[in-house]
Amino acid sequence: MKTKRLGGIVTPLILSIAAFFAVCHYQGNIGVGYAQERTAVAPVQNEAQAPDTDESRIADLITAYRICVNEGVLDSFGHISVRSVTNPNHFYMPRAAAPGLITRTDIVELDMNANPILPNAPRTNGERFIHSEVYKARPDVQSIIHAHTMAVIPFSIAGTPLRPVVAQAGFLPLETPVFDSREAYGPDAPERGMLVRSATLGAALAKKLNNNPVVLMRGHGMTVVADSVKRATVQAVYSQIDAQVQLAAMQLNKNIVSMDAKELAYNHIENFDVERPWSNFKNKLPK
Ligand SMILES: [Zn+2]
Repeated sequence: MKTKRLGGIVTPLILSIAAFFAVCHYQGNIGVGYAQERTAVAPVQNEAQAPDTDESRIADLITAYRICVNEGVLDSFGHISVRSVTNPNHFYMPRAAAPGLITRTDIVELDMNANPILPNAPRTNGERFIHSEVYKARPDVQSIIHAHTMAVIPFSIAGTPLRPVVAQAGFLPLETPVFDSREAYGPDAPERGMLVRSATLGAALAKKLNNNPVVLMRGHGMTVVADSVKRATVQAVYSQIDAQVQLAAMQLNKNIVSMDAKELAYNHIENFDVERPWSNFKNKLPK
């Protein structure tokens, strides 16, 4: 009697435990398969969900340097910065050094007067005022690339505006503005140079940039701004591509067809996915 009663309890209990482990095993298999699939097909999505911290921004900044060097946007000069997420009145950019050699130890934190925060900071770039003055003028800007990109320079000296001519450069305005340091110095300046080495010149550049994503600089290069390091990088590369295509087209016919206002207004729908070109540029980096 006693054994029978126990059997009546134990048998369903054993069956329940067995069923529980069978379900766990089955779900485990599904879980492993799903994880493998996500790792295989969507690594970029995981990366995009990383928390936005100063360190994650600095990591993107260093990757952006490598991409811009690899794509030919940055040569021996130029620099990239990112605004601090913990203190929006500070930004990070590397010490004065060749862009291709930048590592984490080169990164310096600066304030909105372009002064390093730490008293023993290494020598910073002479044109750091580009960054401080644009961050001041444009609260929406989180990252800035200043580059001496050869492909865009003809459009800063020939009186022919850079226009959006390739679909992926639809972020450009109908005509990209050109900053001329000669105008910024004024006609009475006893001497003048080409580089943006003061807050006054930086403010004049920010004024010429206005609400645009790119400003060309006469005989010098360009400054590209965006709401993230990734977007600034993608826009810098496509500014270069756009300039190369426009110059090539104008050798065939000076009357080229560029994108119009309606097409530019639609750009945010067609080119929203900055992760795709960013991951492509990353994949092209030397291993
Ligand atoms: Zn420069």
